[in-house]
Amino acid sequence: MGCNYPKCNEKSSKRCTLVHLCQQHYEMIDKETNDYYRPTQEMKYEERKHFNQIKHLIPWRAS
Ligand SMILES: [Zn+2]
Repeated sequence: MGCNYPKCNEKSSKRCTLVHLCQQHYEMIDKETNDYYRPTQEMKYEERKHFNQIKHLIPWRAS
């Protein structure tokens, strides 16, 4: 399986839930997710740019 991030051709090495991601994109989304859930962070859902690139691939977070 390759990375599911758009326009990325790396092989996936990690699984972000059901989505295959390469190391680089896994870390980007992992960091973004941590920022998003930080209480002092005022990041809006729409500002999760990296997550929004792959969220349609996650069945239980499709909305
Ligand atoms: Zn990737």
